[in-house]
Order: sequence, then C-alpha cells, then structure tokens
Amino acid sequence: MAEPIKNAPRRIQTESQFRKCNACGETLFIRELQKALEVCKVCGYHFQISALKRIGTLLDPNSFTELFDNLEAEDPLQFKGRRSYLERIKEAQNKTGLKDAVVCGEGTIQGRGVVVAVMDFQFIGGSMGSVVGEKITRAIEHATATKRPVIIVCCSGGARMDEGAFSLMQMAKTSAALFRHDQAGMLCVTLLTHPTLAGVSASFAFLGDIIIAEPKAMIGFTGARVIEQTIKKKLPEGFQESEFLLEHGQIDMVVERKNLRDVLAKVVLFTEPQTIAVERELAVELAKTVSLPRKAAKKPAATARAKKTAANAKKRAAVRSKAKVPVSKKTVAMKKAKK
Ligand SMILES: [Zn+2]
Repeated sequence: MAEPIKNAPRRIQTESQFRKCNACGETLFIRELQKALEVCKVCGYHFQISALKRIGTLLDPNSFTELFDNLEAEDPLQFKGRRSYLERIKEAQNKTGLKDAVVCGEGTIQGRGVVVAVMDFQFIGGSMGSVVGEKITRAIEHATATKRPVIIVCCSGGARMDEGAFSLMQMAKTSAALFRHDQAGMLCVTLLTHPTLAGVSASFAFLGDIIIAEPKAMIGFTGARVIEQTIKKKLPEGFQESEFLLEHGQIDMVVERKNLRDVLAKVVLFTEPQTIAVERELAVELAKTVSLPRKAAKKPAATARAKKTAANAKKRAAVRSKAKVPVSKKTVAMKKAKK
C-alpha cells in the first residue's frame, strides 16, 4: 500500500462540480443545476443549453428522430479570416458533435406530433449559414407536407458572415417556406432564447403565429450600444429583453423553461383542426341547451317594436282597402301559415 504523501497541499477538484451564475454570481452545484434545467435557483437566470439538451426538455422521451443530418457547410467564397472558414467549421463540429448550428427532426410533445428546428449557440454563435437556412427550410416544408406544427427554437447572433450574401439569402428562403406553411393553415411557434439577434430575428424568429420567449433573453436586431451611438439617445432599461418586448407587444408570452413543454403542448392542442371543430360543435350544442339571458333582456324592446309594427300594418291595411290594392300571394300564404 502506498504511503500517504505528507505535507502535500490538499487539492479538491471543484471546477467540474460548480458553476457560477452569470447574473447573480451564486456558486451552483452542476448536478443541481442540471436537474433545474440549467436555471439558477437563486435568481432564475436561464443558462444557454445545447440543442440536444433543449430537445430533451421539450419533446417526449425517446420520441425524437433527427432529419437532414447529412448536410454540411461548404466554402463557396473561399473565405479566409485568421483561419479558413472550413477550419472553423471543423473545430465547431469537434467541439459540439454537431454538423452545423441547428438540429432538426420530428417527435411528439405530450403525444402530439411536431417538427422541430433547434439552434445551438455553441456552434459559431448559432450563426445562420446556408446549411442552417436549408435545414430550417426543409423542416418547415416537412411540417407543411405532413400537416404538423413546426416549432423553431432560436438562439443565434445572426447571419454567418463567412458566407456573405449566401447567408443573407437564408432569411428570404426560410421566410418563404413559413409563408407557404401559413397558407396551408398550419401552425408555427417560435421560441426565442438568449440571444436571438440580427438576421435570425429579422426572418423566421418573428414570423411565428405564436412567439414565446424565455425570461430575460436578449432579443433584437442590432446591439443596444450600436443603436445608442446611431440615434445618440440613451435607451430605456431592459431594452431588448423578453419582458420589455412583451410589454411593448412584440411577443406573445414569456415562459420559464420548466413550463415550456406544457405551454407548447397546450398551444399545439388548442390550434389543432380537430380541437377547433370540436370546440365549434360544443359551442353550438351549448347554445341550444342554455337559454341565454340576452333573450330575456330583449323582451320589452321587442314588445314595443311589435306594437309599432301592428299599428303600421293596420294603417297599411286601411290604405289598401281604400285604394283596393290586391294583397300579394306571399302575404296570403304567410297569413295562412300563421293560422
Ligand atoms: Zn443567479
């Protein structure tokens, strides 16, 4: 047995067990943090999570099947910054285990079929190049063809500049696909997470029928500092945060991560054609069985009007008998039917 080393400084490896909260600075147990879906238990700060983890928090267990996972970026512009574009792609692929910055597929949420596209910020800032645009477009088209809702989880710094105009064209392509999805009467829900910026916010992120955001997510087109420098004005506090956007009518809901699955399931259920048809039938049935108070309230007005109509009819009859105007067949029939 090896002798214990005396006087050696005691080292406990804590780096892999703790994580500091970016907002309140609290030291958090990683295991506890993971159980809480990567949300700080002290201040509620929502840490960024990977696309695959996100899919795990939203979809039913083992229901996810990935689609279009064979697409990989090329370098049409031969772009070279400090390193070549393809080198950066390779590095991001090794770091994340993904082919590009979005994971698409199909699965179920509380038993209801959906198509999802989930962005991953760890892959070159979740930037949208040709592959991201193409995969999201295909996911939308797949949802349209199979008559299912599409849920797009956004997390991106914007278009991928290494691909220049090719990346900008993805904005038009994804938007056109969503237009066709909408024309087919199908639902699109977008979930905006921290951060959703630039080309992504200016295309599909804000084209959802229902737009949900996670708390305190930064959502906007250009960064606040650039806007301040341009308009030479101080921006209000909380500008570009989810809550600010909700207050100003830019989004529909701010939902905590732990409630997202339930909320999405409800949204999908409430907008299903079958649900709408059933709701309509129920409303008709209800109208038949329940005597609405509106009817009772109408009565006095109706009797006043009836008296007036009867008086008018008498007057008309008197005029008719004087002038000997023949009574129309329709009136005769109606009078008979009344008797
Ligand atoms: Zn915190």
